[in-house]
Amino acid sequence: MIERSQAIAALAHDEFDVVVVGGGITGAGVALDAATRGYSVALVERADYASGTSSRSSKLVHGGLRYLQNFDLGLVREALLERQLMVALAPHLVKPLPLVVPAFEGAHPDRLVGVGLNLYDVMARDRDRRRRSESWSPERHRIISGEEVVELLPALAGREPTSGYLFYDCQTDDARLVLTVLGEAERFGAVCANRLDVTGLLERAGRAQGVEVRDVESGERFELRAANVVNATGVWADRLSPQELHDEADLPRIRPSRGTHVTLRHEDLPLVGGAIVPAGAGRTIFALPWLGHTLVGTTDNDYEGPLEHIQPSGEDVDYLLEAINAFFGTELGPAQLTGAYAGVRPLISTGDPKKSVDISRKSELYETSSGMITITGGKLTTWRRMAKMTVDRLVERDARDAPCRTHEIPLGQAIAVEDLPRVEGVPEGSYQALASRYGHAAREVLALAGERGTHGGTPHVGGQASELAQPIVAGLPDLLAEAALAARQEQARSIGDVLLRRTRLGLLAARELTGAPAPTVRGERGSDLQPAPVRRVGEVMARELHWSGERLELEIARFAEEAAAEGIAGGGERGEDARPAATPEPSPMP
Ligand SMILES: Cc1cc2nc3c(=O)[nH]c(=O)nc-3n(C[C@H](O)[C@H](O)[C@H](O)COP(=O)(O)OP(=O)(O)OC[C@H]3O[C@@H](n4cnc5c(N)ncnc54)[C@H](O)[C@@H]3O)c2cc1C
Repeated sequence: MIERSQAIAALAHDEFDVVVVGGGITGAGVALDAATRGYSVALVERADYASGTSSRSSKLVHGGLRYLQNFDLGLVREALLERQLMVALAPHLVKPLPLVVPAFEGAHPDRLVGVGLNLYDVMARDRDRRRRSESWSPERHRIISGEEVVELLPALAGREPTSGYLFYDCQTDDARLVLTVLGEAERFGAVCANRLDVTGLLERAGRAQGVEVRDVESGERFELRAANVVNATGVWADRLSPQELHDEADLPRIRPSRGTHVTLRHEDLPLVGGAIVPAGAGRTIFALPWLGHTLVGTTDNDYEGPLEHIQPSGEDVDYLLEAINAFFGTELGPAQLTGAYAGVRPLISTGDPKKSVDISRKSELYETSSGMITITGGKLTTWRRMAKMTVDRLVERDARDAPCRTHEIPLGQAIAVEDLPRVEGVPEGSYQALASRYGHAAREVLALAGERGTHGGTPHVGGQASELAQPIVAGLPDLLAEAALAARQEQARSIGDVLLRRTRLGLLAARELTGAPAPTVRGERGSDLQPAPVRRVGEVMARELHWSGERLELEIARFAEEAAAEGIAGGGERGEDARPAATPEPSPMP
């Protein structure tokens, strides 16, 4: 990405066709779509890219079997087709994942689930024969034996499942997907900067002509001039420029709904595929393999607290652990958590008191009298369709002839792990992780990891591996070189940017980063009670961003505050907002 100060200089001085407010998946998608149709595009993000909902999802690129029961057929069909397209456009980042609905004691797998899966298969079928032959398409769902269930879900061995349904969806790293889409948008000329808060609209003769911006780092303000303004602020969509929004009758009212996830060591709950886990009162949750760990979630409750840092609720953490223990026959407790996180869905209120689980995940586009376009709702999976809808509207308004192209624009470039150069000191397990995260750009991380010189005050002598080749947390694949790359090329500005979003260590190694007591289970990790990884990342960033010693200490303290505010160690807040998980009408559908 362009260096942040250069991006800001361009944003303050140039005039753009479109300014996109919000650097989550929706804003990133709009920026890419508009840029590829020939618009000059600016994108501004108040905090960090993907720091809102787009780093806090279940990481599934899926149709959403559950939405079938609400008869959201259009949404499911659209999402299923997008799922296939994403695998074709970003095969390194969006990968097929087998999912299992197990059955026990000789019982036939639930027939209603089978009916849903049949419909899912039919709806996933791409009628375009050319696309079908070129890209991944899932096998039809089928019934598998108890042994096959255990192969995919080793954690279930003790319960001796007798059969199960096997079907497919896809999985990604949500924050990396956002960064990848933004990278492509920049390749087509978009100018993006984070830590820029939009504080108001610039209007001329009642028409939006840009936005007022405050640089959160320097406190400076400037006007960003653009012929069109797109509000892609997710759960904040009804808070941007309230003056304007409140004049309009048919504007979105966002009803935030919180979802909590926890992560566990693979050894504590080993999974090869995902499991659909009953969680009481007809509700189900997912247990998924993710980045070498197990990811468990989610819940779905109305949320009224502050939106800046969403804490996992303690009751939700307990609820998830209880469901997992009951299903897998385990005795996992808070001491075994490797991390926890929560996010809020930008659901659009219909005015009726439906439970949030029953509110549609459809996206909506609103155009207000100033011409500002607001796009919100939707899902991670459907970002491209949301972007297309938004830019189609701009094109229509401008009477341009500029069809959408994002269905044919690769997102990054996949690379085979064997084609990555081996670098002294880099653990073998890191290569696959780098290839999946960066695709071809993993070579740049490895080039940094191979750099000789003085790193962290430890001078290099010939033959010694670079400090940047080392893992940030012992035993995990993420390298210190990634912190350097994030600061140099991905506008990472804080230690949290690196640990929570450029890598996902904040979600998977929270104890090592916060100094919280280590898990009681024995393993390679867990002995390092000092958050030394945080300091090491800080030192690498300090060199890249020219932080003074004092600034480095401040940034380390800031990360501790952020980690506590985010509740990544999984202690969970308990209180008014932390009501137990929602209990919708019983349904066996995952
Ligand atoms: C628990 C949970 C699980 C989910 N699981 C899945 C899943 O598995 N699959 C799936 O497809 N979908 C899933 N979703 C839905 C999906 O994550 C969201 O629909 C999507 O991430 C929303 O993206 P967004 O860009 O619209 O919003 P956000 O990611 O929140 O982005 C909005 C951005 O706008 C910025 N912003 C706000 N105000 C301003 C301002 N004034 N100036 C500048 N910037 C501003 C914010 O900082 C933020 O970064 C899940 C959601 C949740 C909560």
